[in-house]
Amino acid sequence: MNWTGPFEEAAATLRTTFFTGAGVSAESGVPTFRDQDGFWNRFPPARFAHWAGLERLIQEEPLLIAEFISEFVRPIVMAQPNAAHRAIADLEKLDKDVTVVTQNIDGLHQTAGSSHVVEIHGSLFEVIEVRKSDDIISPVSPQSLSLMLSDLEALLKNGQCTTTQLLRAVCPILGVGPEKAHRPNIVLFGDLLPSCAWNEAVAAASAADCLLVVGTSQLVYPAAGLPALARSNGAKIIGIGLEDCDCDVLLIGAAGVTLPRVVSRI
Ligand code: NAD
Repeated sequence: MNWTGPFEEAAATLRTTFFTGAGVSAESGVPTFRDQDGFWNRFPPARFAHWAGLERLIQEEPLLIAEFISEFVRPIVMAQPNAAHRAIADLEKLDKDVTVVTQNIDGLHQTAGSSHVVEIHGSLFEVIEVRKSDDIISPVSPQSLSLMLSDLEALLKNGQCTTTQLLRAVCPILGVGPEKAHRPNIVLFGDLLPSCAWNEAVAAASAADCLLVVGTSQLVYPAAGLPALARSNGAKIIGIGLEDCDCDVLLIGAAGVTLPRVVSRI
């Protein structure tokens, strides 16, 4: 092989399995969690990243939860795919068999046109209805999320809200009570990963010749174990992002700039 630099090396070894995190959507305006201006700085995970904490805050500080949901959901509803999502989707036009294992819940890979996306942390565009026998997953439209955001905006403008008002506003994604309990189909701290998606992710990582790891701090387990699993099965690991990571080829740079450059060399 005649490699002349890291981009050529990355392209030459590409076997079209991607493992993406929040960084791939940063250029679409969706904040990451752990960067300096990340979401967790304003809404610390110890309080906001698990259902028990959220349930408590809904009762005790409904206005704060209105702000949290609004700030979490709005950028995702407004976001459009960026050059990185499009570059991954464009690979399918080259007849490549592309698998995208994503930790993101924003649906942007699918909007960009990727047809095989494994969402190991769920999706904001789905709710899960918790039942005794089995859980039911239903879609939530961007329109109903937009309506919810308008209702939350009105509460925030008012500067005060009760738990009842909050629950009325967020009913498209959250319902509590014996009649009908539903919540966003997203994985928070302490939750099990959806087993079907996780099994698919493990199979894809195990079978990969090359895994492109894009825009993830690799701090969230078990997801962060996928690159090591791929490597132990012989895959070459290509890291794309703003920070150093454990990989064979490191491409430092924003995903929206770096990924199209790799893909254009295939
Ligand atoms: P993280 O916030 O822990 O880390 C983000 C990583 O992306 C960092 O390494 C950062 O340096 C890098 N990054 C930032 N901007 C980038 C850019 N333009 N190009 C390339 N890399 C960039 O994110 P994580 O590792 O995915 O873990 C956080 C968890 O939170 C995951 O479960 C994820 O699903 C969830 N999350 C999802 C979204 C989303 O759906 N868009 C957004 C925030 C967090």
